Amino acid sequence: MRRVYFDHSATTPVDSEVATLMMEYMTEKFGNPGSIHFFGREANKAVNEARSNVAALLGANTNEIFFTSGGTESDNLALKGVAFANRKKGNHIITTAIEHHAILHACESLEKQGFTVTYLPVDENAMVNVEDVKNAITDKTILISVMFANNEVGTIQPIKEIGQLAKEKGIYFHTDAVQAVGNYPIDVNEYNIDMLSASGHKLYGPKGVGFLYIRKGVKIESLQQGGSQERKLRAGTENVSGIVGLGKAAEKARLEMSERIAHVQGLRDNLIKGIQEKIPDIKLNGHFEKRLPGNVNFSFFYIEGESLLLNLDMKGIAASSGSACTSGSLDPSHVLLAMGMTHETAHGSLRLSLGRGNTQADVEYCLEVLPQIVEKLRSMSPLNATSKLAPSNPCSQCHHH
Ligand SMILES: *Cc1c(COP(=O)(O)O)cnc(C)c1O
Repeated sequence: MRRVYFDHSATTPVDSEVATLMMEYMTEKFGNPGSIHFFGREANKAVNEARSNVAALLGANTNEIFFTSGGTESDNLALKGVAFANRKKGNHIITTAIEHHAILHACESLEKQGFTVTYLPVDENAMVNVEDVKNAITDKTILISVMFANNEVGTIQPIKEIGQLAKEKGIYFHTDAVQAVGNYPIDVNEYNIDMLSASGHKLYGPKGVGFLYIRKGVKIESLQQGGSQERKLRAGTENVSGIVGLGKAAEKARLEMSERIAHVQGLRDNLIKGIQEKIPDIKLNGHFEKRLPGNVNFSFFYIEGESLLLNLDMKGIAASSGSACTSGSLDPSHVLLAMGMTHETAHGSLRLSLGRGNTQADVEYCLEVLPQIVEKLRSMSPLNATSKLAPSNPCSQCHHH
């Protein structure tokens, strides 16, 4: 069966050059970077080369990059590390309602420990309003955390403006840029970013490795105790092969950035246009222009994203939906609801995230298969007649609200 991978926002395949290099650092060059003999020095050198490649991708200094186990750990380290270290200064954090759970759940944990968190709303395109950020600031605010690009609908936030505001007010600014790093040009100085989270497996690198960029001078404390790795911020023997892989992936992303964007964005626009031409009663979710090069997210009225997903899978197309089925609940995503979408519309959402390995033939195959699936599901849908007249919220499909 033909297989088409349209789920690059969930994870990307490891680049073959990256994988080859990683193998070297698992077999012959297996040293512990903390050892002073040849093997250790060789591994340590490779880790630091990776560090400078990551720094170069973001216009950062090499010593401002700290390797972690991925996006989730970087988010937790940024939020909790800054919160704990700056407790005397204030206990207020500003974030948004559409963040990844790594941010939202870390914030909930901080709320239990005496911190206050403001979750900013977004507009119908999932865009944060800079004025809202400004109005939420109090004399207790120590940190603002706004994601660079949303993982579900792809909306790119006004990061430069928010960074500028934070800078003027003397408040630290963190951004979860896991979806953007490697897929969109970012310069931490141009964007006034103090801290930035990223993950290897979203940019054709390996899983289980990521980094946190921390601007020199930011007051932050470590969350785990042990050895003095990563300049005492992140104890534990370095994931050398993972770090080397991430470094190579970052280097390739920097060198190939404009070609990759042009290729992926071209396919994305063809897919969006084709879906709009072939399928009636749909809505494109997320901002039309300010969106990730590879993100396509539509709501298909009167049907469920989950059924679409399963039917696409049977045709070899891998996508993702806005209902968190894996969590044992069919409740629609917090992102789509924060955009003001009704439960019905949110249930019918489908994300197709494109990557550098995709081709125009993939897009055409999807445009051949998807309209047929939508038509079939709609002909069977009990929602068809009723929801057309009265889209309700809360809806009948959720387990609870
Ligand atoms: C994938 C993702 C994460 C989590 O990264 P992991 O490396 O999988 O822990 C965090 N934030 C966003 C926006 C993501 O897309």
